[in-house]
Amino acid sequence: MKKSINTFLKHPIKDNANRSANPPVTRASTILFNTMQEMISHEKKIKLHKNVTHYSYGRYGSTTTIELENIIKKLEQAYHVFLTGTGFGGISLALMSLCRPGDEIIVSDNVYGPTKEITEDLLKQFNIVAKFYDPEKLEDLQKKITKKTKMIFVENPGSNTFEFQDLTKIVKIAKKKKILTMLDNTWGTPLYLKPLKIGFDISFSSATKYFSGHSDAMGGTLAVNKKVYKKIMFFYKLSGYRMSADEAYLIIRGLRTLDVRLKQHYENAKKVINYLKKNKKIKEILFPHKPSSKNYKLWKKYYSGATSLFSIVIKSKKKSSVIKFVNSLKLFGIGYSWGGFESLAILQDLKKKTEYIKGRHFYRFGKDEHIVRLHIGLEEPKDLIADLNKALKLVK
Ligand SMILES: *Cc1c(COP(=O)(O)O)cnc(C)c1O
Repeated sequence: MKKSINTFLKHPIKDNANRSANPPVTRASTILFNTMQEMISHEKKIKLHKNVTHYSYGRYGSTTTIELENIIKKLEQAYHVFLTGTGFGGISLALMSLCRPGDEIIVSDNVYGPTKEITEDLLKQFNIVAKFYDPEKLEDLQKKITKKTKMIFVENPGSNTFEFQDLTKIVKIAKKKKILTMLDNTWGTPLYLKPLKIGFDISFSSATKYFSGHSDAMGGTLAVNKKVYKKIMFFYKLSGYRMSADEAYLIIRGLRTLDVRLKQHYENAKKVINYLKKNKKIKEILFPHKPSSKNYKLWKKYYSGATSLFSIVIKSKKKSSVIKFVNSLKLFGIGYSWGGFESLAILQDLKKKTEYIKGRHFYRFGKDEHIVRLHIGLEEPKDLIADLNKALKLVK
């Protein structure tokens, strides 16, 4: 029987030994074999990328992490899935596995802050040059390609400003020049977009966000095709990157309700946006909600759904009053991350270049325009709207 992916997420595990509906949490360093011969033939199987139920040593994972790998493999339709202890570990795993001295990497200017830092600052120390392109201009990306370009790194939609790009066009350009492509798909999740299916070599998601969904676990998933598998496996085994069995268990538990939660997150976000778009203090809502907009069209072209993270652009000559607005929200926490059950708000300064924040090279917002990122949680939307309505009065 061909099951829908939503059904699969409810029935992913068969734990025959323990007769539990959920997988056991296998905490392990040493894995035991009956004989030396069994150990050696198992190592061979792993090397040949055969399906296995356990690895040969705890550093590579346990039965619990293999369960999660198999779920993500199916969700992403991937050749292999690497799990890391945090989302960012997945990004660093991909870059450190594939980029070598003399290479260049082209990165979308609107990537997650630490992605900018690792490409611009850390890779530089290894003689790898990062070039940032304007996510609104495909020509800018094209212009930056040279013979040395190893990889194009895209995040879609971009962090904080949520621009959508024409993904298959990027893949086409890259394939012609034999350049690898990687997509940070944390916002859409593989439930709504499968990057490998549209031609990307690597699909990344921070499992900390919607996968786990409860703000209590961290992890990263790196789904890859056969072309890049060997190189990433080589570095994965030597890097010591690994997800613990406990985190894998929590992420499996989160995934059971991913479809249901995302639907509700989106419903709630739509209601909040319907309220926000009537407020004169808000100049723009950075979410694909206007059918006439370029971002909406590009979202529709690639995604089968939307989630609940977006930004609002508030126009105010008094930044302090925007800070007051964020501070006075009662139902929105102030904090990093997102994708959990709860609503969050944060004022993002993207222009500033400091030791800690990499500013944008391409920034289209004005001096008196402030970007507040909102994550709409699973609270009753009416309550969230009442909270926002009260707090927005403080914006001067
Ligand atoms: C959070 C996030 C990451 C990093 O994930 P962590 O689990 O926090 O390390 C990477 N990319 C995007 C788009 C994110 O939002």
